[in-house]
Amino acid sequence: MHPRNPYRIPPDFSQLAKVYPALEPCIISYSGGFSIDFKNETSQRRLTEALLHRDFGIRLNLPLNRLCPPVPNRLNYVLWLQDIIHTTEFLGNMSVLGLDIGTGASAIYPLLSCKLNPDWSFLATDVDKFSLSCAQSNIERNGLADRIQVFETTPEAPIFAPFHQDPNLKADFTMCNPPFYSSRDDVSASADSKEFEPNAVCTGADVEMITEGGESSFVRRMVDESVEIGQRCRWYTSMLGKMSSLTEVIGAIRGHGIQNYGITEFIQGFTRRWAVVWSFSDLRISDTVARIANPQLQNLMPPRNTLRQAIRVPTPDKQRLVNILSEALAAVEGARVVNAEISDDSSSSRFIIYASKNTWSRAARRKNKQGGPLADPTAVEASVPNLIASLQWIFGDKGAAGGSETFLECQWIQGKDRNLFEGFASHISRKVSEAISH
Ligand code: SAH
Repeated sequence: MHPRNPYRIPPDFSQLAKVYPALEPCIISYSGGFSIDFKNETSQRRLTEALLHRDFGIRLNLPLNRLCPPVPNRLNYVLWLQDIIHTTEFLGNMSVLGLDIGTGASAIYPLLSCKLNPDWSFLATDVDKFSLSCAQSNIERNGLADRIQVFETTPEAPIFAPFHQDPNLKADFTMCNPPFYSSRDDVSASADSKEFEPNAVCTGADVEMITEGGESSFVRRMVDESVEIGQRCRWYTSMLGKMSSLTEVIGAIRGHGIQNYGITEFIQGFTRRWAVVWSFSDLRISDTVARIANPQLQNLMPPRNTLRQAIRVPTPDKQRLVNILSEALAAVEGARVVNAEISDDSSSSRFIIYASKNTWSRAARRKNKQGGPLADPTAVEASVPNLIASLQWIFGDKGAAGGSETFLECQWIQGKDRNLFEGFASHISRKVSEAISH
């Protein structure tokens, strides 16, 4: 589960029922304490309502014949999106617009997201009239009608229909929990193989769960459509329920030559879900958000945007190391440190640097020697930087040999040229290592 997800620790059910009495009849006691029957639809609904009520102040009305969204899993997706949006906070983007594809009767994603993020608003689509009318009343019940707008569409229309209807529409992200299955048989086969745990299968209507070709084909359609919409949306994302779909969707992303993408994994009990993000922008997300350690999936991972170099440090004098890094950055011709956050005790420090072109490689320096003086460094700010990166020291625990483990971390934030980023990171770590050993 996401590190900020409070449901990493299972809730105290009896306490929850005190706050939300409608849950009381669903509580079962056993020798180890209290729980609920997770196979019982009513119990599941009450649990979802209770958690949303207690932890988010959300009042939800869930119709019986539609999916009951499990809160921990839905929250995981929202927290991951927060991480992605956080990546570009340095741009000073104030308000965030998200598109929820297939919002369902609960409108769970827009409601949770808006409660957690005061600056977010949503367009929420669905093809199911009944779900949309429930979604609308859930939105109104929570006083969020000014921030969440529902959008009725059809299965035949483009998935990103709102972008077609309004040619001026721009969004920060799209999200989707797609219908998983390709047919009723697929639903039964999956239930038999226990691929999806009970709460995903037992309460959905066909329209919520079944789409031609299943989730893989739905999300690949999204990838295809996104090519045309391009940078009108910054981050395209979707959840996926099957590992095989993940392989197919990443294949589609790579097939379009999109290298700016990421994968995450949501694990809740025995249930595993994945989510993908892709973008046509030159903004880069950190490896903690875009890569996972699952050994089965390494061949699908995007290239690294977070480079960590272990640096030999004889005495871990943090202040000195921060100074060395600061000086190494200041010495890069034509680059500019635009922001430096250094804590009082130097235990944490982060420098954001803008560079317009490679001035640091041997070849660049030789060229400059022949070509006269270097470009005016103050001109960098005026021109669009081709590289934005952030650098910081990571001070680890004491290593086995007694010396502490110290890493220089270089995070790619923006830019189109991977070689420029990697070259810059290795230049700085070389300069820093040289300065330390002097
Ligand atoms: N977001 C909710 C519901 C997910 S179920 C949740 O996470 O709990 C999938 C939803 O997608 C259903 O509500 C279904 O009606 C909707 N849907 C199916 N095809 C769609 C399409 N082409 N465009 C938009 N929504 C669609």
